[in-house]
Amino acid sequence: MTSFVIAPPPQASLPVVGTDARFPVRRIYCVGRNYLAHVREMNEGADERDPPFFFQKPLDAIVHDGCKVPYPALTQSLHYEGEMVAAIGVGGARIRRDAAHAHVFGYGVGLDMTRRDLQTVAKDKGWPWEMGKAFDHSAPLGALARADEVGHRTDRVIELKVNGKVRQSSTIAHMTWSVSEIISKLSEQYRLEPGDVIMTGTPEGVGSVTVGDVIALTVTGLPPLKISIGEALSP
Ligand code: MN
Repeated sequence: MTSFVIAPPPQASLPVVGTDARFPVRRIYCVGRNYLAHVREMNEGADERDPPFFFQKPLDAIVHDGCKVPYPALTQSLHYEGEMVAAIGVGGARIRRDAAHAHVFGYGVGLDMTRRDLQTVAKDKGWPWEMGKAFDHSAPLGALARADEVGHRTDRVIELKVNGKVRQSSTIAHMTWSVSEIISKLSEQYRLEPGDVIMTGTPEGVGSVTVGDVIALTVTGLPPLKISIGEALSP
């Protein structure tokens, strides 16, 4: 048995509907610019059929359903991005699009929390996105539903409310790159492994939240997620 000089970090994991067993998380990948209406609201002037691009969040950024996201440091513009999540159960590299669904363990929902002002600085300066996207508590993720129970439907409605008011409302069918295409493209860059979680991009309607706000995210047929924004942590 390996011994450690300090306590090792706990294994990140997500609940799974219908069982006490949890889904261990290996990596969190995120897809950028995957809904046209969101690309347009960000006014980025990008080619609207650009291939998907990816970034990651750290595992210990996960925040569970019903918990608080402390207002993060160094930002005046904390944004929500409601997204469907696909969890990988079977690994592989260069996965073909038509074989991709067989690699999916299940689906859930998540929030790609973003320090938008810092992301904008990073874009302007050509810096990495971590300071805007990969900060502490930046990855609220709900429970997973097994794909063999909920299927791979593409007509799910995604809806995000802040304090009960609808801010994002779209359908998964509006994704530029489908889950199968995302898995195919991502697995060209990295070998996917069981435990990888992919946040599949956000539709239009992103916006800022402040201390005390409650964010509720639903995607048809999947476990919902509700979190609130708490006071900044004291240093
Ligand atoms: Mn996003």
